[in-house]
Amino acid sequence: MGWSKPATYGARGVMNQITHWIDGKPWVGDAERRGKVFDPATGRQTGEVDFATLGEVDAAVAAARRAFDGWRATSLSKRTTALFSLRALLASHVDELATLVTAEHGKVHADAAGEVARGLEVVEFACGITQLLKGEFTEGASTGINVHSLRQPLGVVAGITPFNFPAMVPLWMFPLAIACGNTFVLKPSEKDPSASVFLAELVAEAGFPEGVFNVLQGDKVAVDGILAHPDIAAVSFVGSTPVARYIYETAAQVGKRVQALGGAKNHMVVLPDADMTEAAEAAVSAGYGSAGERCMAASVLVAVGGCGDQLVEGIRRRVEGLSVGPGTDPASEMGPLITLEHRDRVASYLDIGQAEGAHIAIDGRQHHTNGEEGGYWLGPSLVDDVTPGMQVYRDEIFGPVLSVVRVETLDDALQLIRTNGYGNGAAIFTGNGGAAQRFETEVEAGMVGINVAIPVPVAYYSFGGWQGSLFGDLHVYGPDGVRFYTRGKAVTSRWSRIGEHHATLAFPNAAASEAT
Ligand code: NAD
Repeated sequence: MGWSKPATYGARGVMNQITHWIDGKPWVGDAERRGKVFDPATGRQTGEVDFATLGEVDAAVAAARRAFDGWRATSLSKRTTALFSLRALLASHVDELATLVTAEHGKVHADAAGEVARGLEVVEFACGITQLLKGEFTEGASTGINVHSLRQPLGVVAGITPFNFPAMVPLWMFPLAIACGNTFVLKPSEKDPSASVFLAELVAEAGFPEGVFNVLQGDKVAVDGILAHPDIAAVSFVGSTPVARYIYETAAQVGKRVQALGGAKNHMVVLPDADMTEAAEAAVSAGYGSAGERCMAASVLVAVGGCGDQLVEGIRRRVEGLSVGPGTDPASEMGPLITLEHRDRVASYLDIGQAEGAHIAIDGRQHHTNGEEGGYWLGPSLVDDVTPGMQVYRDEIFGPVLSVVRVETLDDALQLIRTNGYGNGAAIFTGNGGAAQRFETEVEAGMVGINVAIPVPVAYYSFGGWQGSLFGDLHVYGPDGVRFYTRGKAVTSRWSRIGEHHATLAFPNAAASEAT
């Protein structure tokens, strides 16, 4: 029998009941507590999501624990077959998954399809797990002694993910984790939870055994249950910096392996020799795409050496005709923000910036919107003459509010980035190769763009920031993802001279071994 998604999924006007996915099937628990899910383009409630109790956390972890022994013993060839099926299923359901994302997150459909495509890349990378898990081998480390290394799974691992990429960020984590032989418990954002269940159904359809991938819906109760659970070996987190720090400290304290990616304040530096039209277009795309709710969004435009006026005018020209409306309308270039509270918080930075002495060059509150009145709208906004001491500069705003800081030199720009506290992405726009090379070497950020405004690495590199944008050592997906989800073992073996060996009490070393 073929797989088909439930008819009511994400449909407008239908109240969806969104619950957990445990042991290969939906889990309808007691749901002592629930959250509301809204369509941000209308402000209407479209669903209700169960919040996991500690008992349900236990049930999900127990299912993953039961599945682990069999799954880690499953051959790489069988694991790869299931990953290829998942790849094919995802590729044929991009449109439906993107529709779900738009319905609960609000981003425009093309952008939602883009996030699914970037997640799909990670599944494709994981399909090469046979190559990625190869160990090393040394013949003759000493006489008759060979050494080889293995990378083995950790056990049950968990992922805790943010609202802004409800499909892509889970896909950054679980395909590689399960490819490595772990089993997985995902706790997605409670604001747009449907994509996670859709992904779970695809995983089941792809032929992964029950319990290999589980979803726990919920809030802090579920997160704290995961952090404290003795059977969870590692936690991957993506979200805001204060929560990332909390996750890192709490999980590390009980001995778990943790990678916790936090918030961002990405700087896009423009030198006077750059193509100003191209730079202004790039700033609009990187600053206002997905309503600025991207961890790699440009949020500070650093205009070097007097190019600020030209950039501001270029942005103004492009923004005037920018179409803000529901993500379901193909004409919309930018959708609503995630919640009413978040919209109001983001808009408040226009008042804050003005009170601090910045100049509101473009006021998004005045922008025409092609959407219903109840939607959480805010048009693209530009705050000029921002200085590093201002709150509008320091805080992660996470909305369509772009600040312009004017500086004299590339040194000034590098110093700003070094001292702002975050270090996720940073970009430079220039025609000067020497300046670009210097930027690449000296900038304090984990991901760097050269004439590329949103430098999200492809899946065969790894994604992660510096400073307050990452707690932990390893980035997500790519080669770092394989290292994070496995632990190393080195094996030293002797077969050829068994029986000829005379035990000594000296510490084993090559010279002594040669002598025996
Ligand atoms: P968030 O930190 O509020 O929530 C992230 C996850 O943590 C959710 O699953 C949420 O339920 C849970 N959570 C929230 N508060 C918690 C608490 N007090 N204790 C325990 N768990 C808690 O983030 P968000 O608003 O969903 O997402 C936006 C943030 O994520 C932004 O700061 C953005 O920069 C960041 N982000 C970073 C990256 C990256 O790669 N660095 C990528 C995407 C988003």
